[in-house]
Amino acid sequence: MRRLLAVFALVAGFLLAPAHADAAVVDVAPSATASASYTSPWESVAAVNDGIEPARSDDRQNRRWGTWPEAGEQWALLTWPSAQTISSVQVYFFDDGGGVRLPASWKLESWNGSAYVDIPATYPIAADTYNTVTFPAVTTTRLRVVLQSGQASVGLLEIKALADITGQQSTWSPPADLVAPLDEVRRHAESANPDLYGYRNYAWDQIIANGGSVNYCVRWDSGAPVTAELRDKIEAALARSFKKWTDVMAGHNGWPYADVPVKVVGWAARDHSLLQWSDDSVDVYVGDLSENAPQCAEPCGRLFDQSGAYPNCPGGPSHHYDMSLWLTEGMSGGMGGAWGQRVGSEYLVDNLGSDDIHILLHEIGHSFGLDDFYDWTPAGQCCFLMKAGSATSITEFDAWMLRDVWRHLKSRYGY
Ligand SMILES: [Zn+2]
Repeated sequence: MRRLLAVFALVAGFLLAPAHADAAVVDVAPSATASASYTSPWESVAAVNDGIEPARSDDRQNRRWGTWPEAGEQWALLTWPSAQTISSVQVYFFDDGGGVRLPASWKLESWNGSAYVDIPATYPIAADTYNTVTFPAVTTTRLRVVLQSGQASVGLLEIKALADITGQQSTWSPPADLVAPLDEVRRHAESANPDLYGYRNYAWDQIIANGGSVNYCVRWDSGAPVTAELRDKIEAALARSFKKWTDVMAGHNGWPYADVPVKVVGWAARDHSLLQWSDDSVDVYVGDLSENAPQCAEPCGRLFDQSGAYPNCPGGPSHHYDMSLWLTEGMSGGMGGAWGQRVGSEYLVDNLGSDDIHILLHEIGHSFGLDDFYDWTPAGQCCFLMKAGSATSITEFDAWMLRDVWRHLKSRYGY
């Protein structure tokens, strides 16, 4: 019998090995934002995912999450910007022997897009150790640890959420409730645009042609002066906005770049006196009008030359620009495409400090090949950035739409 078991284990090991060869299980809790039903003013909810290993449940060295004097049901919540596929959670309870003790019971809940649902499992309760729960993998953006108090208030020192990130890295793995609406979006785009996958000047093409970066030229279609400080703030805001899209791709499905730097290489204006800097960090183009707006030299623009050689660009290929950021005085709304983005100059200047410059973000989405949703809405979706006016930041649905475009284009780049 012993021998038989050994043989069986060998065979099973052999059979299982290929499927698990590139499994990558990591604690994704530190990448989440923590919040809670209540936190005592002297404690910190950030303790639950700070990655600090507790020494014991009565840890007096490190920060802790505690709810004294609140009792009853209390919870700590981890929220991720994109869905995680989690199959095991470990929690370390806070218990100081006084006002904060082990819970009477606890459970995990995941967010299914509209409600929290229980994760059925066996929930151990022990002090001075991690309490480990395993369950069939759940894909979610939010994980809630719900504690029922017993003899005192409750608290946690640490939560670990173990996720298999293999799928995120190498395969198509949207949350189950997004599969159908994403399919609708893709079919809609394919029927509206027969050359969808043949077109060669998406932001994808530009980034890959440059080996992982993108160059811009600013079309300053305004009579307002621009200081060096404002110039640099506009570049920073553009880079920050662009990064919000490329961060969605980092580590996903063969996308090769962890970071995609954005550089403004030139500025075009009606009059040189509007551009009030003396350094030569950018090329300056004056008096070249197109569509009645200043534009940067055509021989340097990718829209006019996709060979990558830019033989007639004065500064050579390194001074080329892939897209224009066209800033128009008095404009509301925006436009976007392979050529770049166009928004109001006042709008951008007034929103340079905003976390989400949402019109610019939306227009950058178009440059990656995402459509508008003026006359229809994918099933089960209400609000997302590419449906203008319904959201002001990149939602999970926007993120998966972007990834779906990549899924259908990537083979042409050899990925
Ligand atoms: Zn649009």
